Amino acid sequence: MGTVLLGSAPVLACTDLVADNQPQASPAKAQPTTPEIYSFQLGDWPAYVIHDGTLPSPTLQPFFLPEASATELAALLADQFLSPDNWNLSVNVLVLRTPQGVVLVDSGMGVGVTPTTGRLKRGLEVLGIAPDQVKAIVLSHAHPDHAGGTIHHPQGLPAFPQARIFLSKAEADFWGADQPDLSTTTLPEAIKKNGITVAHKVLHAAGDQLHKVEGEEEFWPGFRYLTAPGHTPGHRAVKISNGSDTLLYLGDTVHIHAAQFAHPEWTMAADTNRQDAIASRVSLLEQAAGQRLRIAGGHLPFPGLGHVKKLADRQFAFVPQPWSA
Ligand SMILES: [Zn+2]
Repeated sequence: MGTVLLGSAPVLACTDLVADNQPQASPAKAQPTTPEIYSFQLGDWPAYVIHDGTLPSPTLQPFFLPEASATELAALLADQFLSPDNWNLSVNVLVLRTPQGVVLVDSGMGVGVTPTTGRLKRGLEVLGIAPDQVKAIVLSHAHPDHAGGTIHHPQGLPAFPQARIFLSKAEADFWGADQPDLSTTTLPEAIKKNGITVAHKVLHAAGDQLHKVEGEEEFWPGFRYLTAPGHTPGHRAVKISNGSDTLLYLGDTVHIHAAQFAHPEWTMAADTNRQDAIASRVSLLEQAAGQRLRIAGGHLPFPGLGHVKKLADRQFAFVPQPWSA
């Protein structure tokens, strides 16, 4: 099946499109309908990571890490008991119960788009969170695997009608254009087209719910953006603070944990500006390591919480947080 990736988002190539609202049968890789949910605390806020699903990638290159020599990459991965083949990238959504209501950080792909994603909705049901209880959705960027969950597919109606939807102004302006310029990516045309279609649907559905954020000031109690362009023009990391506890959500600053902490200079096909993407990655990993901040990531292996250790100049390691029940 011609499943391909966008911004690490697997979307179906045009030739493979089936009715958008009919999940395809996938006997070999059937996933449970109830997603994995990891519980933790941010200060006194109950918090969760819901696993929206996985993005299968039969081979990493050239979509991911095109600059790496195949030999060097294979050796780096073998050192970690991994291979460049048959990757399943996690799609993680943060859920925080704040005094102002439930806040989502990113929203996954949405229901019925691919057979291996779209499980956020069920996860919220399991937690007893109704769509109307979600009061804010903080998007790192407008790719389908992060913003697609804000709408019902394929109609494009709002999935969380009571939520303010936050997006950087730069991101909203970029995707709001009739023809966003994706010429600096190396994505196939069908994937570019799908990305634009979904972003347009998301922005259209958001309407008055959309709040375009400029700068790095707090825009919701405890939440601020950190400017981190390159993957997309308006991509942002999210710094979430409650009392003395802080969590830095990297968004799509890192896609392949096993390679990009050690080699932040390795990029991916959907990046609109590779030099900016590299600079954003190095800067955020420096901050996280220097300030000993706990991190979360859109595509770190579920649940994707941990810390960053600095090994050398522009060389880092991901230290996953031990699972705690
Ligand atoms: Zn992504």
